Amino acid sequence: MLIRFKRKDKNNRTKLQAFLKKNPSMARITLSGPAAAVIEELKEGSSAALSPLLEAVFPGASIHLSPEELFPQALKSSFELGKSFAVIAGPCAIESKKSYLETAAFLSGLGIKLIRAPLFKPRKSTYCFQGLGEEGFAIIAEARARYGIRPVTEILSSSLLPEAEKYCDIIQIGARNMRNYELIKAASMTGKPMIIKRAQGAGIKEWMMSAEYAAVRNKKIIFCERGEHDMFQEGGINFNLAARAKKDFGITVIADASHSSLGSDLVEKGVLAALIFGLDGAMIEIHKKPEAASVDGKHAISFHQFEKLLRKISDMEKCLKK
Ligand code: PEP
Ligand code: MN
Repeated sequence: MLIRFKRKDKNNRTKLQAFLKKNPSMARITLSGPAAAVIEELKEGSSAALSPLLEAVFPGASIHLSPEELFPQALKSSFELGKSFAVIAGPCAIESKKSYLETAAFLSGLGIKLIRAPLFKPRKSTYCFQGLGEEGFAIIAEARARYGIRPVTEILSSSLLPEAEKYCDIIQIGARNMRNYELIKAASMTGKPMIIKRAQGAGIKEWMMSAEYAAVRNKKIIFCERGEHDMFQEGGINFNLAARAKKDFGITVIADASHSSLGSDLVEKGVLAALIFGLDGAMIEIHKKPEAASVDGKHAISFHQFEKLLRKISDMEKCLKK
């Protein structure tokens, strides 16, 4: 931790020593001067815990914490999605058993291993379709048993975790819930791999700190960049941010190429961009009849478009290897 004092005061050092004496988890000052000090953390997490207290002792000081101090466990997180670019595809919401099994059959026939299995939809309007809810777990179970495809389900409430744990292979924390630390903690206790989407306005640091809530007990984390979003506008995917997080911290990062596309015509470009930026995979919403989808039909791609896209991914992968 680096602390820059507001005033160059001889008392700073004495005050700091007194503070550290009371807080032995951060006892060692390895470098100090009249204006700044570097304090070594002896117990993991102590810098993050003590920096607000230091701010009170040294008003106006600026305190800088390293990634290792802020999110030590999230730095060790990773989830192997496969050797090549991973694709998680499926509907925005499961609509019926018939349509879902058809989608699962289609995807597994193409060698896709992970299927979106959304039963609980975080809709902006309470009047819109909210998903099939708990009754849909039986449909997921059937798709998994028949096709050996692994379901990815977003959970909005910790009360549904026992069922999600039983029927789903990956638990998704949606963008709206990246800041719902209690839900993240509860989901991590299942031991299941987790997708953590980046929330609106969050930077890499905040994203990683949210993941830290899971990583202290569960390091199977896939970070998913889905772009900015609010009630009035969509802000597009931040590929630079996603690739930077992956490169700097060695974590697993995918992009949801659908939700920020604002239309199915740009989904393919988003997926290929994720590949070019070196991300580990993409999440893609597909629908047999996009115009009839009960949610997000405007950006769902058809089965035919999806097959074409898979061929392009494979071509692009070859091209990037050259
Ligand atoms: C979703 O993936 O179904 C979803 C609701 O995404 P987000 O949390 O990114 O809005
Ligand atoms: Mn959707």
